Amino acid sequence: MDLKYLNLRSVISMADSNRTSRRTFLKTTAMAGLGASVLPGFDAAASLPLLNSVKSAGPVVISSRNGQQTVLKALELIRSGSDALDAVVAGVNLVEEDPNDTSVGYGGLPNEDGVVQLDSCVMHGPTCRAGGVAAIEGIMYPSRVAKLVLERTDHVLLVAEGAVRFAKMHGFPIENLLTERARLEWVKWKEGLSNKDDYLPPHGPDDKNIGQNIEPPEMHYGTIHCSAIDLAGNISGVTTTSGLSYKIPGRVGDSPIIGAGCYVDNLVGAAGSTGRGEANLENLCSFMIVERMRMGDSPQQACLNVCERVADHTKVAHLLDDQGRPNFGLNFYALSVDGRVGGAGMWGSNGSFAVADSNGSRLEPMAYLYKR
Ligand code: ASP
Repeated sequence: MDLKYLNLRSVISMADSNRTSRRTFLKTTAMAGLGASVLPGFDAAASLPLLNSVKSAGPVVISSRNGQQTVLKALELIRSGSDALDAVVAGVNLVEEDPNDTSVGYGGLPNEDGVVQLDSCVMHGPTCRAGGVAAIEGIMYPSRVAKLVLERTDHVLLVAEGAVRFAKMHGFPIENLLTERARLEWVKWKEGLSNKDDYLPPHGPDDKNIGQNIEPPEMHYGTIHCSAIDLAGNISGVTTTSGLSYKIPGRVGDSPIIGAGCYVDNLVGAAGSTGRGEANLENLCSFMIVERMRMGDSPQQACLNVCERVADHTKVAHLLDDQGRPNFGLNFYALSVDGRVGGAGMWGSNGSFAVADSNGSRLEPMAYLYKR
């Protein structure tokens, strides 16, 4: 019998600890080792005694690693009385409007046609309500539109042109989200796509093999997730992304889908994800993480267990390495109602996620299923 899926808290804990020692490697990197990547204003020293399992006394905010400013902003708002949902959306807005983050909002890498299409969802713990937008174009802050879907419609998900019209109705400007940097990356990708078409990458007149000059385009994945507990003890979460770069136009990833990109239960906690959206969509991982926490997993155990589920469900050859392990990245972030935090990814050695709470702001190490 496979112990993994039994709904008994004690059996799950036992299976968790067995599996963890057998297949996972938790890198407990001293924060000093991460110091070089910590942004100004980030209090790395405050994190030294803390590793993923601290019961928090006050509000807590977590985010994927690219949200180091996000968690600070959200915590500041929560401390001044904001609801967790307002705070996490305002936090991720900083990344949505940042042209240098090529995985979210303005400056995000475009789809196959050179058009930036964005996905986002939000979930509000106290009301159990959610909103999302998918494949939305020309809107710098898809998370704000997702929040409006929650607040001003009786629906949960609006897509493409309908989502744009809804955003316009609420006064959002339509903007060109394709920065010059993202356009150039897209051109590089398009020119290097095939040696059977008429595009050529930059090359010298005497180059014999133009293909050898093709440099890999910038990263293909990236997203921000943020979730928080506010002063009232309420929990909310948001995930926002430009999705897989150079995707087929109309492709919707996991980020706008409730239960995949984000899930919140006010009595249990919140979870979110970044990485290969297709694998998450096929497993509804954020929902599963929250359910596992409900059954007694710690946030980190829940994230690791879901990584295992994804690995068990990955069967097609092009997604497996030569040892039969998933060859893609997928990361999870979780926050429990009592303020514990945790994160885990399929692959790692030095992954981390951002946290801000009464102990300061910091990066915490991610656990991982497979070591690179
Ligand atoms: N999960 C996102 C998607 O598949 C991309 C990412 O997080 O890297 O659209």
